Amino acid sequence: MKKLSRRAALLGVGGAAGWGLSGFLRADLPTYAGTNRLVSPTGEKILNDASGLSATPIQKHLHVSDSDQALVDRIRSEIAEARAAGHCLNVGAARHSMGAQSIPREGTAITFSNAGIEVDSANQTFRSHAGARWFDVITTLDPKGWSPKVMQSNHDFGLAATYSVNAHGWPVPFGPMGSTVRSLRMLLASGELVTCSPTQNSDLFNLGMGGYGLIGVVVDIEVTMVKNSRLIPSFDLMNASDFTAKFKKAIEDPAVKMAYGRLNVERESFFQKALLITYRETDDQEKLPAAGGSGWMAHAASRIYRAQLGNETFKSFRWWNETRVGPKLSGGDVTRNSLINEPVVTLDDRDPNRTDILHEYFVGFDVFDSFLDACREVIPSSYQEFLNVTLRYVAQDGQSVLSYAQVPRIGAVMSFSQELTHRGESDQVRMTRELIDRIVEIGGAYYLPYRPHATLDQLKKAYPRAEEFAHAKRQLDPELILRNNFWDQYLGQL
Ligand SMILES: Cc1cc2nc3c(=O)[nH]c(=O)nc-3n(C[C@H](O)[C@H](O)[C@H](O)COP(=O)(O)OP(=O)(O)OC[C@H]3O[C@@H](n4cnc5c(N)ncnc54)[C@H](O)[C@@H]3O)c2cc1C
Repeated sequence: MKKLSRRAALLGVGGAAGWGLSGFLRADLPTYAGTNRLVSPTGEKILNDASGLSATPIQKHLHVSDSDQALVDRIRSEIAEARAAGHCLNVGAARHSMGAQSIPREGTAITFSNAGIEVDSANQTFRSHAGARWFDVITTLDPKGWSPKVMQSNHDFGLAATYSVNAHGWPVPFGPMGSTVRSLRMLLASGELVTCSPTQNSDLFNLGMGGYGLIGVVVDIEVTMVKNSRLIPSFDLMNASDFTAKFKKAIEDPAVKMAYGRLNVERESFFQKALLITYRETDDQEKLPAAGGSGWMAHAASRIYRAQLGNETFKSFRWWNETRVGPKLSGGDVTRNSLINEPVVTLDDRDPNRTDILHEYFVGFDVFDSFLDACREVIPSSYQEFLNVTLRYVAQDGQSVLSYAQVPRIGAVMSFSQELTHRGESDQVRMTRELIDRIVEIGGAYYLPYRPHATLDQLKKAYPRAEEFAHAKRQLDPELILRNNFWDQYLGQL
């Protein structure tokens, strides 16, 4: 049995692994096939996401590329049809969320794909169809000298989807992407089209930001942009215990435009060393080169990255390469746009027996050492293959109701390679819950677009306004037309 490739998952083709973990599962999910392998149900009426582990029955799946009034009419009519049939509806884009957060169980799934981006240089914004992907945005902005202010580290994701998970990036010193949205138009389940911004219908704006498509269907969006620029990196290797102070200093330095950190991942010396990479503008900002795709360095790094699997020596080699060789080879200048113009596929494992699973945790600067201790105690003793962690800065987000950064936070994006077996899955569930407990205990939060392994109680602790969100959702959409697994498994239980 073949695992879904990311692209196949993205197109909604093929199936996914079933789950056999009684106690963690809904009774109607596809289950155990009699071996230790996870089995993927497939079919026209099954939709999956990038995890390959979210196979969900749906009524139909439409790809919609209309825009403006035609799009509004189309979505209104689909909502009316879903209501008449008594089922739900949900819109997705690249479907890289990993726990069916973009999939309506037994409902109408709509995938938006339409670019149509207009640049407004005078106002430093661009207006776009909600389904545009970041690669569309970069392709349009780059020749005009502009760059997205905040987006994920890869360019495959949808714009409205990015607002709907309130994603963050690594340009500094910014908060999540929702803070860069000037305004948007959203179709509510009632059929009403509303314009929302920080000052107009701000309650809806703040609910929809990080609201996982449960508040309304975003049809178009106006987003702030910044000047593209030529940047040069600096590399600083240190003990992990020194990272917070140096990272904070870098974030406060106005010359630093992009920054991230890394930690070593060998089991024996897990998270003892840190590398801080900062980018500053060069003196020469004339004639910037066009944003390239992944260079040979990214492809070579991806090979070394994969060779780490089950190989502690290669984990050490990668750390040496990244901290000693990389800085010598990649000392040249690059542009802001070329750094974020990176496809997810560069990382693809191409292994039918495994799947890449991400986690992300957000912790305050003052508790970062406790966070490191928790990770050292929980992760290396698990059955999971831990491949990478990237540390990012996230400024305070006081807008989004489901905010994961009530104070400025360090975001730790973790990448695991998970075996597609029942033992791999049950160990992943156990380890995730243990990590979340430890992180919530120190006032942190976990990120919601990944695997739905948290308990309801953990969700409530990490997102103290979850009940308020669920209440507002019920007021806006009493028939619960806009729904996905995030509602079914979590918010709908509150
Ligand atoms: C390799 C990889 C790297 C990542 N890097 C980062 C990162 O750097 N920073 C970060 O913050 N996150 C990161 N993520 C997480 C990522 O931001 C989310 O998974 C996001 O959902 C991906 O966008 P998408 O287009 O795949 O969204 P989808 O999974 O298709 O949708 C996500 C949510 O948005 C809703 N939605 C989509 N379109 C609309 C619409 N038009 N109106 C209303 N709701 C809508 C959906 O209902 C769903 O709930 C990464 C994920 C992967 C797999």
